[in-house]
Amino acid sequence: MQEGLAALNAGFNSPPLAFAAKMRYVRAPMTSALNIYDPSAKPDAGPPSLAGLTRPQLRDAMMAAGVEERKAKMRADQAWRWIYHHGARDFDMMTNIAKDQRAELEKHYTLDRPEIVERLISVDGTRKYLIRLAPGVECETVFIPDVGRAGALCVSSQVGCTLNCTFCHTGTQKLVRNLTAQEIAAQVMIARDDLEEWPTSNENRQITNIVFMGMGEPLYNLDAVSDAIDIISDGDGIGIGRRRMTVSTSGVVPKIPELGERTKAMLAISLHATNDDLRNELVPLNRKYPIAELMEAIKAYPGLGNSNRVTFEYVMLKGVNDSPAEARALVQLLKGVPSKINLIPFNPWPNSPYECSDWETIETFAEIVNRAGYASPIRTPRGRDIFAACGQLRSESERLRASQRKS
Ligand code: SAH
Ligand code: SF4
Repeated sequence: MQEGLAALNAGFNSPPLAFAAKMRYVRAPMTSALNIYDPSAKPDAGPPSLAGLTRPQLRDAMMAAGVEERKAKMRADQAWRWIYHHGARDFDMMTNIAKDQRAELEKHYTLDRPEIVERLISVDGTRKYLIRLAPGVECETVFIPDVGRAGALCVSSQVGCTLNCTFCHTGTQKLVRNLTAQEIAAQVMIARDDLEEWPTSNENRQITNIVFMGMGEPLYNLDAVSDAIDIISDGDGIGIGRRRMTVSTSGVVPKIPELGERTKAMLAISLHATNDDLRNELVPLNRKYPIAELMEAIKAYPGLGNSNRVTFEYVMLKGVNDSPAEARALVQLLKGVPSKINLIPFNPWPNSPYECSDWETIETFAEIVNRAGYASPIRTPRGRDIFAACGQLRSESERLRASQRKS
């Protein structure tokens, strides 16, 4: 813990741009251009990719490529294993599918992933990818080592967000669109490509956990999130268990039961305040679904118990929500709810209206929470040198490209 605290202290409150100026990050070369499956694509858009499809989609794709209906499920199962267990990038790898059928598949499809526009590797091992899904549609994915059993991949569910949490950089970007299940699953595949994690192995995995804490509000895109969780958790493929996936929501109350029933994923709530007045300001969605209603939905979350706790995220904003009285109110509010608390040091972005709380203030807050029985609640900020706070890489990259255009 002390080590974690020291690390936190060292990188503390430094604006990401100051880090960038010191060039403490490694900017990796771009990959070549790739196409992704896009159901709305025009016929001349090139063959779509099978990587990231659900089982039913893959079966339909087989039939569209001329596989007889009675054989389509078996072919889809075979292809599934090549795609999601072996990470196949080439149809020739699919040795249990006859050569002429492989050639037929190749005529219709690719196994491409979306293009990585930018890949940044932090000195602390955090990797951040800016991924182009379609022209002008880019999302962020972050690999954070040393979380969970080994490391967590933070994925995006939307490009931009319709909600306007005042401390969140994504909240300042308007919603471009929901991601498809394929685009969400592709984020995991891209990270696995980069970390050379194919074929799926149960030993020495680097990505053991998935957190839906990237750009966007997952519960406003639940169909795609749920399909993506089906793909990622499938034991014949990527095989990351449902209980190792955490979906974070700002509090879309009516969708919380459905999330539990459909996905069996772990729940995280972006709380950030313990009273409605302040939460209305920080998380404007609270005006629609106030704290009392939110807490009721959380308590009824399917599967909730001491081994399946809800995570409460609480961003530490200087002079706003960080007093000892608020720490006590937090403990009071969570009484009787099997919970974990993540205190997140605010990650500032250019012209953000808040500052991160002082270190001593966070420590005092953490101590109160600790004494109430919540262990190690401070999340060490990772990848600060590469703008790892959600939404920052995308806009920084846009800013750079805009300035390049001007020069
Ligand atoms: N929309 C969902 C998930 C994406 S945000 C949600 O709000 O829960 C993931 C987490 O990052 C949330 O807890 C959010 O409050 C937090 N967050 C957003 N901007 C941040 C910042 N600048 N510093 C620290 N945490 C931030
Ligand atoms: Fe959207 Fe979550 Fe950011 Fe709020 S914190 S604006 S819900 S991405």
